[in-house]
Formats: sequence, C-alpha cells, structure tokens
Amino acid sequence: MDFELQDELKLFRRTVREFCERELAPHAATADETGELAWSAIHKMPALGLTGLQVSEAYGGAGLDTTGAALAVEEIGRVCGSTGLSISAHNGLGCGPLMAWGTAAQKERWLPLLTSGRHLGGLALTEPQAGSDLLNGAQTTARRDGDHYVLNGHKAWITNVRFAPVLSVLARTDPAGGSRGFSLLLVEPDRAGVTVHPPEKKMGLKASPTHMLTLENVRVPADHLLGEEGSGFYMTMQTLDSGRISIGALSVGLAQGAYEALLRYALERQAFGEPIASKQLIQEKIANAAMEIEAARLLVYKAAWLKDKGQDYTRLAAMAKLKASEVAEKVCFDAIQVHGSYGYSREYPVERLYRDQRLMSIGEGTSEIQRLVIARQVLKAWQQGAAWL
Ligand SMILES: Cc1cc2nc3c(=O)[nH]c(=O)nc-3n(C[C@H](O)[C@H](O)[C@H](O)COP(=O)(O)OP(=O)(O)OC[C@H]3O[C@@H](n4cnc5c(N)ncnc54)[C@H](O)[C@@H]3O)c2cc1C
Repeated sequence: MDFELQDELKLFRRTVREFCERELAPHAATADETGELAWSAIHKMPALGLTGLQVSEAYGGAGLDTTGAALAVEEIGRVCGSTGLSISAHNGLGCGPLMAWGTAAQKERWLPLLTSGRHLGGLALTEPQAGSDLLNGAQTTARRDGDHYVLNGHKAWITNVRFAPVLSVLARTDPAGGSRGFSLLLVEPDRAGVTVHPPEKKMGLKASPTHMLTLENVRVPADHLLGEEGSGFYMTMQTLDSGRISIGALSVGLAQGAYEALLRYALERQAFGEPIASKQLIQEKIANAAMEIEAARLLVYKAAWLKDKGQDYTRLAAMAKLKASEVAEKVCFDAIQVHGSYGYSREYPVERLYRDQRLMSIGEGTSEIQRLVIARQVLKAWQQGAAWL
C-alpha cells in the first residue's frame, strides 16, 4: 500500500478544502441553528464533482476512486457535519446502488438529476421496528401486480428524502424467501401513496434532513426494480460495506475539525502565565488526538484501497468506521474540555462537532454491529488459516 497520496489526489483535496472553507464553513453554524443546508454551496458542488463522486463523467459525476471520494467527504465533514452526512448519503446510498446495479435506462433517467446539485439521493432500509436486524425485522413489502410492484410499509430515519427525486427502498418481494426474499425498488417520494412525515428533531446534524416515510399501496412500474428480484439484501450489505468507508471518512473529518479548534484555542488561551498549550496535560490531549486521527485516517484509506483493488474489504471497512467514530467522539470531547466553558457554548464550533459526531457510531451499522462483523471475519479467516492474522 502506498502511504503517500498521488499528486492529483493531493491537489483534489486542496481544492475541496478551499471550497469548503469558502462556501461551507461560513454557513455551518447557521445551518445547525436553522436546520437548513447551505444550498448556495451545494449548487456549486457539481463543478468539483462532489455531487457525483463515484458516478461516471457521462452522467455528470467525477468518476473518482474510493480514496478520492473519502477525501472529499472528510474535507466536508471537517467544516460541516450536516452537509457531510447528506453528501455522504447522497453519494454512497443514493448514487451508489444506481451506479452499481442500475440499467442504462435507470442511470440515464436518474443520475444526471442526482449529480445536478439541485437534488440529494438516499436509501431507505431502516424501519421503525428494525435497523440492525433488517433480515428478520423489516416488514415493508413489494408485491408484483402485472407490470407494477405495489409497496406497503414504513421506513424510518431516512436521510435526504425531502430533496430526493428518487430513493432506493428495501422491500420484501418474497416474504418466505429469507435473505433472497428482498429487492431494492426505485421510488419517487412524490408518488401517490408516499407520505413523508415531519423532520425528526435530532441532537446534531440538524441541517441534514431525516424523515420517516409511509408507503401505502404505492405502485411503481416493474422497470423501477434495481438489479435482480431477490438480490436486495445482498445489494444492501454491499452498499453498507462501502458506506462505512464514507462514514469513517466523515468521522475523521469531524475529528480533524475539532482537533484544529483545540490547537487554535490551546495556543491562544492563557492560564497560570502561559498558553495552556504549554501544559503537559493539554499536550497529552494534543498528542493523543494527532496519533488517533492518523490511525483512523490510515484505516479509512486502507479500506478504500482494498475496495479499489477489488479485494474483500468488509473487515477493514468495519474497522475504519468503528475506529474513526470512536476517535471522533474522544477528540471532540477533549476539544470541549480544552475550551473550558467556551467549549460548552455555541460561540465555538466544538459543541456542534460533539453533537454531530454522535451519530457516527449509530448510522450505517452501530458500533456493536461493527464489532460483530470484525469478529466474524477474523474467526472465519482464522479457521481458514489466513496469513494476515
Ligand atoms: C441521523 C440519522 C440518519 C440516518 N439515515 C438513514 C438512512 O438514510 N437510511 C436508513 O435506512 N437508515 C438511516 N438511519 C438509521 C440507522 O442506520 C439505524 O438507526 C441504525 O442502523 C441502527 O438501527 P436501530 O436504530 O433500529 O437500532 P437497533 O437495531 O434497534 O439497535 C439498538 C441497540 O441494540 C444494539 N444491537 C442490535 N443488535 C445487536 C446484537 N446482535 N448484538 C449486540 N448489540 C446489538 C445496537 O448496536 C444498538 O445499540 C439513520 C439514523 C439517524 C439517527
């Protein structure tokens, strides 16, 4: 594995950072207060490929590899968690399944809209009674009726619904079929029978819209089936593996934002006659943050690198998300601590970063589920005599 980013990726990172500093950072606190994304910035994102990170250029995307996509999400998360989550979900959960399994007609119809900077896409898996255990708990159904599917059920906690021209919805097409009984269907939220409920009132990521959906006899044409009937659960697991790299990158970005705020404040704040950065207990926090962010970032890059090489990356993606989300929690906690009372105030960004990072150990698979995934992979590999153990 190459530990240096290629020059073009370094340049891309710098360009995205400058864009984020200029277009997103000034709006991040307001977005958190008002609950509205800075659309003025999102409208400009297509020029950098941020609304189609891994979508082919033919459909308006940037055609980046996974490392490039992770860098972009990290940079957005560094300045605005809400935009980071919405752009991560849009790219990974909205555009990702369409790019991977869409027919030419589906791609032509939806991807140019999704990359336009006027919409954000999403994926509806979670239900009010089931998140981690979709296999046993998901109840939404899609029944074939002639040349249509008819969907019924509820979906909960769905990011970007309000701005999505289309969503991929996980539904049971064969209720007795187990993991082969699920399919993904493309559903337009303005279709008859779809109710988008009021936005969830969240702890953080307040400008990233999250809604519950009810589907009541929603008829979609059969050509809205994504991939093959019965392969929805498999596609979901693949999409989540990939999405975990992105949530890992977003976590690194949130940690990086808090770390930089911590450094700035520690150098500026005086106590006992000198900047608090001179105190060894503050330096311990600085050293730990520097080391842990580096470790988390390398795990994200390694997972992305494995994915781009076409190798199995399930274990590394789970490790990257788990480690990076735990690092984000600790670094944001320490950043508030170093700010003292000001850290508890909305005047400084660290309290927003602390609230925003909390989702990272829940969304796209909780930390408990990541540990189960890692342990299962390790045990399987051990039993098969894998060399990397
Ligand atoms: C802001 C936000 C945005 C979201 N966006 C989306 C989206 O766009 N699309 C979407 O489909 N979903 C989305 N979600 C939902 C999210 O992915 C789920 O909340 C998450 O997968 C966890 O599911 P759950 O909340 O049902 O928790 P549960 O599955 O009910 O878990 C509850 C607790 O039990 C633990 N647990 C469960 N099973 C086990 C086990 N076997 N061993 C040990 N512990 C276990 C969990 O780790 C957790 O701590 C979003 C959620 C939020 C808050």
